[in-house]
Amino acid sequence: MAIRGGIDLGGTKIQAVVVGDRGAVLGSTRLPTPTTGGPPDVAAAMADAVRQAADEAGAVPSDLEGVGVGSPGAVDDSAGTVATARNLPDWLDAYPLRDVLADALGTKVRLGNDVQVATDAEFALGAARPYKSILGVFWGTGVGGGIVLDGKPWLGRSAAGEIGHVVVRIGGRRCPCGRRGGMEAYAGRLALERRARELHDKGNRTRLFEIMEERGRDRLTSGVWARALKAEDPVATKLIDQAVKALGAGVASTVNVLDVEAVVIGGGMGIRLGEPFTNRIREAMMPHLFVDSAPPAVHVAALGDLGGAIGASLLVKPARRRQAATATRPRATRSKARSDK
Ligand SMILES: [Zn+2]
Repeated sequence: MAIRGGIDLGGTKIQAVVVGDRGAVLGSTRLPTPTTGGPPDVAAAMADAVRQAADEAGAVPSDLEGVGVGSPGAVDDSAGTVATARNLPDWLDAYPLRDVLADALGTKVRLGNDVQVATDAEFALGAARPYKSILGVFWGTGVGGGIVLDGKPWLGRSAAGEIGHVVVRIGGRRCPCGRRGGMEAYAGRLALERRARELHDKGNRTRLFEIMEERGRDRLTSGVWARALKAEDPVATKLIDQAVKALGAGVASTVNVLDVEAVVIGGGMGIRLGEPFTNRIREAMMPHLFVDSAPPAVHVAALGDLGGAIGASLLVKPARRRQAATATRPRATRSKARSDK
C-alpha cells in the first residue's frame, strides 16, 4: 500500500499524519511549534513529527511516497521556499523548507498554503465531496479562506481566499492585520480575546478569564469560549453573537461574488462550536445573499483538526486527488481531537 505524509504547520502546533490509500490515517503526531530559534529549528521539529507519525504507522519516513506541508506565510512550491511566516520564530526571509525536509526525511516534499490544503481535504475527502465549487472558511485564531472552483484550487496570484479581511464595517474595529472593519476583527479568536479583555477591564462581568485559568490555559481557547457560552456568560454571548453576524455578512458577500455550491466551516472555533453555530452562520448569511432563493449548502468541516495535515498529504499526488474527488470518493476519516491547541 502506498503511504504518504502530511504536515500542518501552525503557530502553536505541528500536526503530522501518515495516511494510506483512501485517506485513512495510519499514524498521527502533534508537537508544539518551537517558539524560539528560527526556521531550522522548526524544520527539525517537523521532521521529528513525521518520524513519530511514521513509526506509529509501522514505517520510516523513507517509506513514504512523499510528504506534503501546509504552511502559513508566502509559500512558493516551485522554489521550495516559505517566507514571511509571521507566527513562526524569526521566519521572514525565504527559507528552503522543501529541500531541508527532503534531506532530513529521505523522501520528496511538496509545499502548499495551509488553508488551501485544508479546503482541498474537505473537497476530496470531507464535507464538500458532493460539490464542484466550494468556499472553505477557517474560523480560528484568525479567519482564513480557501476556494475550489470547478474542481480546481483557486489561489489567485498567490493570496486568494483572504476572507478574514473582507470588510464588514467601513471604519470599524481594528483588525489584527492593522486595517479596519475586516471580518476577522469581529470573529477571529485573537480579536475576540482582545475585545473581551477590554470589556473585562471596563468592569463588564464575565467568567471567561476564570474559565481560562480553571482550564490551565493562558489564552481564550475555543474550548474556553464554548464553556462560557454554555454558562450563558454575557460578554461571551455578546461577542460571539457579533462574530456570527460578521461571519454571516463576510461569507455571504463572498458567495455573492463566487456563487459556490457549498461553504465548509472549519478552524478551531468552527469545529469546536460545531453544527449549532454553523446553522447560526447560515441564518446570518441570509439577509446579505443576493440570490437568497438559492442559498449555498453550509457544512461544518468533517475532517476536524486533522484536515490540514490530511490535505497536505494530498499535495504528494495531485493526479489522484481529482480521481478521489470525482470517481472513487473515499470515505472520510474523522478526527477524534476537537480542540484548537
Ligand atoms: Zn484584516
